[in-house]
Amino acid sequence: MSHETALSSQLFERAKRIIPAGVNSPVRAFGSVGGTPPFIASASGAILTDADGNEYVDLVGSWGPMILGHANPQVVEAVREAAGRGLSYGAPQAGEISLVEEVARRMAPIEKLRLVNSGTEATMSALRVARAATGRDVIVKFAGCYHGHVDALLAEAGSGVATFAMPGSAGVTASTAADTVVVPYGDREAVRELFARRGGEIAAIITEAAPANMGVVPPADGTDLRDGGEGIGFNRFLAETAHAAGALLITDEVLTGFRASAGGYYGIDGDGWAPDLMTFGKVIGGGLPVGAFGGRADLMDLLAPLGPVYQAGTLSGNPLATAAGMATFEGLDEAAYAHLDRASAQLQALVADALAAEGVAHTIQTAGTLFSVFFRDEPVRTYEDAKDQDTAAFGRFFHSLLDSGIYLPPSAFEAWFVSTAHDDQILDRIGAALPAAAKAAA
Ligand code: PLP
Repeated sequence: MSHETALSSQLFERAKRIIPAGVNSPVRAFGSVGGTPPFIASASGAILTDADGNEYVDLVGSWGPMILGHANPQVVEAVREAAGRGLSYGAPQAGEISLVEEVARRMAPIEKLRLVNSGTEATMSALRVARAATGRDVIVKFAGCYHGHVDALLAEAGSGVATFAMPGSAGVTASTAADTVVVPYGDREAVRELFARRGGEIAAIITEAAPANMGVVPPADGTDLRDGGEGIGFNRFLAETAHAAGALLITDEVLTGFRASAGGYYGIDGDGWAPDLMTFGKVIGGGLPVGAFGGRADLMDLLAPLGPVYQAGTLSGNPLATAAGMATFEGLDEAAYAHLDRASAQLQALVADALAAEGVAHTIQTAGTLFSVFFRDEPVRTYEDAKDQDTAAFGRFFHSLLDSGIYLPPSAFEAWFVSTAHDDQILDRIGAALPAAAKAAA
């Protein structure tokens, strides 16, 4: 370490005595890259400051929500104002309607939407609605797609092409996992074969609109026939296949929503098809805990107290959270997306140049403004591909950047997140640190 980290180290030791691994979400523990995670004391714009006073350019953005940068003045003011009016009512408030209307305005398939407190709750609730609507139990998911820590979605592929899953975590029962089938991402033949065999049992397919939790792996579009597509994109293929069998399609936009583009990833490839249900989180809460699930009105009207599907939340629709979400949407105008596009493209070019100069194997993949860097030369189309990269090289690259004050996601399987606060000066700081990091990776 080239910078002082004594206070973060002390905090980490103290945390580990009382919080499992010292963290409240596993990836924060730096398990795959090693070392001590900086404990963050404050954040502003594109900069994190740790307990020891070190500054880092942040390329994590709290894993997506901080799309306008940290402590954005308009968002902070909206939260401050809301806080002055009370922290939680447990009763309806107008901010809930505004936030839900804004999501629906940007996302055509949303006829009705309900707010929850996390992406996990959103996907869990969407599955419940899908099972109730179809009277079927089986959920199809794709290897490498992450939808939160819902029991049924913490399932791992068996050895077959489309197999009934094994529990992906201790504490998930075999019978829960048995209702989940895991298919390789992008494999139309496996999806067809599965529906031919078990179509009558399948309640829904759930997919990330563009997978970003194994690194960014955009779905094939209608012009990409690599996976046997007949001129239609993979998402549309999933919608058509599900519908032909009386099943539903759930598109998870928790990560891509209002990040990949102003209309999420659906805004990029939502032509000629629509999911039945969608899930959101991250950006729509602007840094406070918010998720949402919604879609077809007839499905959403199955929810209590209108219908038989129970779903609830003490803090759902919290007034601070809806204020932060609305203030974030207010900042997400055309200019903001143009900025995100440009910053993302410039950063990709800087990384590609630095890695190429040192002969480090790499592939950069994008989904709108989202991107990630794989440490291998060949394209990544499946989770198996993503796992076949030089994670040790990534670890050396990561630590060199951290030492130079650049905070990357501490895993080779994550998207990198830029914000509207990532301006030319910030990009220059990253650019200055990259050659040494590429050398370390080589
Ligand atoms: N779905 C996707 C696509 C995600 O990326 C995530 C979180 O990273 C989730 C769901 C779960 O969201 P949360 O962490 O808010 O529970």
